[in-house]
Amino acid sequence: MNILVINCGSSSLKFQLIDSESEKCIAKGLCERIGIEGSMITYAPEGGEKEKTTTPMPDHTEAIRLVLNALTNEKTGVVKSLDEIGAVGHRIVHGGEKFTYSAIINDEVIAAIKECNDLAPLHNPANLIGIDACKTLMPTTPMVAVFDTAFHQTMPEEAYLYGIPYEYYEKYKVRRYGFHGTSHSYVSKRAAEVLGEDYENLKIVVCHLGNGSSVSAVKNGKCVDTSMGLTPLEGLIMGTRSGDIDPAIIEFLANKEGMTAQEVVNVLNKKSGVLGLSAGLSSDFRDLEDGLAKNDENAIRAMKTFCYRVAKYIGSYAAAMNGIDAICFTAGVGENGPIVRNFVCDRLQFLGIELDQELNNKRGQDLVITTPESKTKVLVIPTNEELAIARETAALVK
Ligand code: ADP
Repeated sequence: MNILVINCGSSSLKFQLIDSESEKCIAKGLCERIGIEGSMITYAPEGGEKEKTTTPMPDHTEAIRLVLNALTNEKTGVVKSLDEIGAVGHRIVHGGEKFTYSAIINDEVIAAIKECNDLAPLHNPANLIGIDACKTLMPTTPMVAVFDTAFHQTMPEEAYLYGIPYEYYEKYKVRRYGFHGTSHSYVSKRAAEVLGEDYENLKIVVCHLGNGSSVSAVKNGKCVDTSMGLTPLEGLIMGTRSGDIDPAIIEFLANKEGMTAQEVVNVLNKKSGVLGLSAGLSSDFRDLEDGLAKNDENAIRAMKTFCYRVAKYIGSYAAAMNGIDAICFTAGVGENGPIVRNFVCDRLQFLGIELDQELNNKRGQDLVITTPESKTKVLVIPTNEELAIARETAALVK
């Protein structure tokens, strides 16, 4: 069955058409600047030429109409008609406590996603617009919602509660939820396969290091802790997000700089992380690596602080799971950054990690990058959230 995977943001929309039997991507692309002047669609059929077209997209319905037109185009399309698209899988950012697993989309599910809007005001409304647009254009095609938060719903209370008055959890559901769940789930399962071990009998740490970054502790196939919280701002130092800070910094900076709390949080989301730490050099690790090669002190500071935080989280998850069998690196930085992996693993000697430097320099495939003697295994597993969404969708629709 062909599954259309949609990842809908407020002004962009990523899509992939995946054959659920062969698990191959048949076509993929991106709509950008939806609702803004200069909108464009990029469409790339597998094995064919990538095309970029600038065309008006006043709203998401128009964007999805253009996606469906591209997929069914007589010359460059990959299917003859929309009947060849068996289901649509939507990436939904926040499922709150309601969704512990993916769900077939119906009116009740849409209402429940809406109820989580408060928790992800930038993402969930955009995800819902994507659902609505698909419903208009493909009214009889089944759709599935796959939540970024669902995999983390197995966290025990002691891991998800904040040390604040309990009534805020009861009244407003203020707690840690975690994100990137589809990736953490996919990568941890794949690691067990690569190691040839039983997923239900492993203690795995997944480091999803991209522009947004998070770590999770997966014990016996279940997530028991993760670094992101109520929002994706908590945890690791990221491209532009601060990660963990003393919450009193918000009031302190607001007073010093004459900003509102909202403005400080905006700085914590958009101007912090390695971008802020490198004094504005870059949020992109490729630039930081270049800086490192030139002994640039801004790049060194950002890189060292970032890696220290990752190592500290892994150490805390050794405590959370009473040991670690395997550490996986994934996403843009995790998959492509041998320097980051080296810096992090260097700090984890107590876990008996021995990296194989030759293997650590390879990229683009599932790999164990430690020596056979290494007590804890370290793996690089390229994540594939779209494939994971397509799998979940096919499983529910069948
Ligand atoms: P997102 O969180 O946006 O999905 P990705 O997982 O695609 O992010 O990761 C994007 C980041 O990956 C980039 O900002 C960049 O820092 C890093 N990255 C990508 N390619 C490389 C590379 N070859 N070497 C080092 N870092 C890389």
